[in-house]
Amino acid sequence: MRRIAILLFAAAFVVPATAAEPARAVQCTYNGVLFNWCGEHWPASKLPVTFRVDVASAPTALRAQFMDAARAAAQAWNQAWPTKSTGCAVICLIEGPATFGTADGKNGLSWVPANGACGHSSGVLATTCMRTSGSDSFGKLITEADIALNPSPPSGRTWRMAGTLQLITGELYAAWPNALCTDWYDVQSTLTHEFGHALGLEHVGNEATPYPNDLTESPYTLQTMYWAQGACTTNMRTLDAGDIAGLHAVALASSAG
Ligand SMILES: [Zn+2]
Repeated sequence: MRRIAILLFAAAFVVPATAAEPARAVQCTYNGVLFNWCGEHWPASKLPVTFRVDVASAPTALRAQFMDAARAAAQAWNQAWPTKSTGCAVICLIEGPATFGTADGKNGLSWVPANGACGHSSGVLATTCMRTSGSDSFGKLITEADIALNPSPPSGRTWRMAGTLQLITGELYAAWPNALCTDWYDVQSTLTHEFGHALGLEHVGNEATPYPNDLTESPYTLQTMYWAQGACTTNMRTLDAGDIAGLHAVALASSAG
C-alpha cells in the first residue's frame, strides 16, 4: 500500500507540573472517542491565545498566502468557541518573528526544517510544542505553544495554499487513500489541526492501524484531530462534531480555571 497519510505529531515537551496531578479522570488515549483530551487547557487569564506568525520563515512560494491560511485556520476554532465574540475569540494572530521550542513566553507559528527540536522530525508535516506549568482540577495549565510546519513534506511532496488547490471532490476521504492525487498537502488543513493541539486537544484515531486497514476508523477520518492527514485533502479545514465537542470541553475547563 502506498503510504500517503502522514502523522501530525503533537510533541509533548512539558515542564513538570508544580501542583498536584488533577483529581478528575480524563481521557487522553484513543479509545473510540469523539474527542481525545488530557485535560490540558489555557487558564482564562491567558485567553485569547496570541500567536506570532513568522511569515518570513515560510518557503518563498507560500509566503504571500501564508497569513491568510493561518487566519482561516484560526477562524475555524474561533467560530466554534462557545462564548465567541467578534474577531479572535480564542486564537489571535499577529505577524512577527517567532521561535519554535524555545521557552520565551511567546507562542509562535513558523516554518522550521526538520532538526529534531521538540520532536519535529523529517517524517511529519508539522509539530506543536507545548509547555505547561501547574494544574487545576481539569488538568495541566498550558503556558506556551509553538507550532512548526515542515518546509519539506515527506516523500518529496509539496505544500499548497488556497487558490492553488486542485480539488477532486470537496471531501476526499470517501476515497481515501486517494488514488488520483498523492503529491501535495493543504497548509490550512494542517494549521487547523495544529491549532487544535495548541488548545489542548489530542488525536483521535488508532495510530497503530490506520484507516482503511482498520475500517472502525472511518467515523474519525473526517475529524480535524484525526491523527493523519491525507494527501490532496482539505477536510481538516472544517471542524467536525468531535472537534467541536472537544473544544467545548477545553472552554469549560478554561472558564472554570
Ligand atoms: Zn496531530
